[in-house]
Amino acid sequence: MIKRITKQKHTPFKNQPNMKRILTLLFVTSILLGCKNTDKSVNQTGQLFFNGDIITMESENAIYAEAVVENNGKIIFVGSKKEAESQFSKAKKIDLQGKTLLPGFIDTHSHFGMVSNTMGQVDLNPEPVGTVKNIDDILTLLKKCKEENNIADGEWIFGWGYDDGQLVENSHPTRKDIDKVLPNNPVYLQHTSGHMGVANTLGLAELKVSSESKNPDGGTIVRFKNTQDPTGLVQETAMYPFVRLMMEKLDSKQAKFFDTTQDYYASNGITTAQDGMTSRESIKFFQTQADAGKFKIDLVALAGYSELENNLKDTSLVFKTYKNGFKVQGTKIVADGSPQGKTAFFSKPFLTEVPGCHHDCRGLPSLTQEAINNLFVIGYEKDNQLFIHCNGDATVDMIIEAHENACKILDQPLNKDRRTIIIHAQFARPEQLETFKKYNMEPSFFTNHAFFWGDIHVKNLGKERAYFLSPMASAIKLGLKPTNHSDATVTPIDPIFTIWTAVNRVSRSGEIIGEAERISPYQAIQAITTNAAYELFDEDLKGTLSEGKLADFVILDKNPLKVAAMDIKNIKVVETIKEGKTVYKKVNF
Ligand SMILES: [Zn+2]
Repeated sequence: MIKRITKQKHTPFKNQPNMKRILTLLFVTSILLGCKNTDKSVNQTGQLFFNGDIITMESENAIYAEAVVENNGKIIFVGSKKEAESQFSKAKKIDLQGKTLLPGFIDTHSHFGMVSNTMGQVDLNPEPVGTVKNIDDILTLLKKCKEENNIADGEWIFGWGYDDGQLVENSHPTRKDIDKVLPNNPVYLQHTSGHMGVANTLGLAELKVSSESKNPDGGTIVRFKNTQDPTGLVQETAMYPFVRLMMEKLDSKQAKFFDTTQDYYASNGITTAQDGMTSRESIKFFQTQADAGKFKIDLVALAGYSELENNLKDTSLVFKTYKNGFKVQGTKIVADGSPQGKTAFFSKPFLTEVPGCHHDCRGLPSLTQEAINNLFVIGYEKDNQLFIHCNGDATVDMIIEAHENACKILDQPLNKDRRTIIIHAQFARPEQLETFKKYNMEPSFFTNHAFFWGDIHVKNLGKERAYFLSPMASAIKLGLKPTNHSDATVTPIDPIFTIWTAVNRVSRSGEIIGEAERISPYQAIQAITTNAAYELFDEDLKGTLSEGKLADFVILDKNPLKVAAMDIKNIKVVETIKEGKTVYKKVNF
């Protein structure tokens, strides 16, 4: 990992007058040790990749290069094989044997910390991610977890990924269901949306949720019909105490799972991962790992909005600046819930019953307009990049209003290059996309929904809204640079699958969720390379195969631009290279 510290106004060595001497000493030492060559980068001649489909991503249409050469972690040549060989005769030749080489994938929204945490939780996902088909399967897995891990009575047990819409019962498990197998352990099961979950009776009791509890602002404690008795399902802000507790319990294991989590991202071809909402504690944890040289790939964190003011006051936290492979790019705001959980905030009601709601059920915003306005003013004033989780069109309206309000108050141009990112933007209306373009905002879409919940969205929202979910084609036509993400743990990290869903938009049942919004495989790759780099202000470092950029590559067994569209999902990552070093290689290939 090459150390990359961009120029800072306040030099970190300010209070260390001996730094110059130390550097001189290091220089002299390296001369003395010169013939031993302790630094591997000295005299390295690099690697020359050839004989494959090398797609540079430098243009609006695919450009193939015959060869790419890297040295010391940077790309030093892109062009013809003949020229590469004559200019870099000492470079190690890597024969791609017909495989495809692309810039490493850049993850624009997932939750590295949560992915890490799932390694300490029971996997309750439906197929194809897990094996759960009904509530009994969930109970069996929970019971097995307690038995196999010898978990004592009274200890918390957590699960993740259950999806009521994919269960045979088509409903959430209740506390009574879970009590049947785990009466003596507090339990909390995270819904696949990440916006709600179910606790058992002991779990509710530990967090003092009872029939006397009132719904918190922006959240719902769901009750059994015609009673005040909680079912165990807690949504949005009502789930926060459960998630907080779960993170506390699991964070202690972060170091244990850190390496495995990086390997998991790398095995998916990702050279820049994201932690989509990071507490100050976790920022410290990641920076410590980075400074100890433990990062194999880069990680970009988005700080949590509740700590925005503290973060901006903290001079040790330098936003938008990589240090040893880690940077905090900006601030994440959560403005509404999830459409499949029916907690996203829409201008028109859901067409089906919404748990805990009886009239004009349009979902709900997580924050008031005033609170969002306030965050925008604070963020824009300090040029802090804002990333707003926003699914329903009514929330998009709130964000646009907050943007206009902040620009007015601060007397800033509406279209300043601040790249405010609307994360998900799933049900943005056509005219809202035009406003994004006008205001230099960018959407980060989530086309995996077409597969996982496309059928459900059609039922809940009707075809018109459902077919326009994550409208990649419309956004591209307007000149936006949309990205596309997995929001893992909500859907699997796999960027190849994300390309597949953007290109095909096929649901679980086989319905095409909005044919007009399908995009080409090349555009789908741009979303996770070039556009992704732009979104994170990394366009000078990453996203294309260009001289001077980092040698972050992914090698695929087949070219997504040349296989049948429906076969894209079967393409395998063969190797992932971060700054010239192999960080993943498929065995037996
Ligand atoms: Zn997320």
